[in-house]
Amino acid sequence: MRLVTAGIALLISQVVIIGFVERVIDGDTIRVDLGDRTETVRYIGVDTPETVHPASGVGPYGKAASEFNRSLVEGQWVRLVFDVEQRDRYGRLLAYVYTDSLFVNAELLRRGYAQLMTVPPNVLHVDEFVALQRLAREAGVGLWGLEGTIPPVPPPGIEYSPGTVEPGGEDDIIVYITRTGMKYHRTDCHHLKHSRIPIRLSEAQKRYEPCSVCKPPGVR
Ligand SMILES: [Zn+2]
Repeated sequence: MRLVTAGIALLISQVVIIGFVERVIDGDTIRVDLGDRTETVRYIGVDTPETVHPASGVGPYGKAASEFNRSLVEGQWVRLVFDVEQRDRYGRLLAYVYTDSLFVNAELLRRGYAQLMTVPPNVLHVDEFVALQRLAREAGVGLWGLEGTIPPVPPPGIEYSPGTVEPGGEDDIIVYITRTGMKYHRTDCHHLKHSRIPIRLSEAQKRYEPCSVCKPPGVR
């Protein structure tokens, strides 16, 4: 059912425009000349953290992500492909960005320069992005290779709702996931220190693995 819905959304809303990247603002934001105007474009589905260690101020990683992004797109023509929402609340265009040879959003995740940031309803590529982030993390590339990597707190104003949690019903067991993790947890697990998103157990089991530390319900 979810696939069918995504397919319909794709048919209705997928718009592609071509632009020239004037400059890179940071790891996930660019300034693009569209001919009649210039727009700020935020990449969908990824987040390049300013800092890796919140206590140490501006860390080196945001800078590395900016430079990598610059090497991919600055001074190049790109295709911008939109999802359900064309703009965020700050008026920036939200896009999947492609060069001749690369899907830039995906490349940032694949090389460990960005973390997954899923903001419904713009979720066309979420499965691919989840898989790329998992591979990057397993390989320890980019930010996943740094000591003590801490997932950033969601920026203010971004609502994150991977599943609607409603009371009642037979499978009304609520477990918790994190913004970037691949596991689900019991309410008191220490992995929930940085983010904590309620989700039904039945939903969690479709997309996440049970945590081996807190052993939530559904451990096989
Ligand atoms: Zn846990």
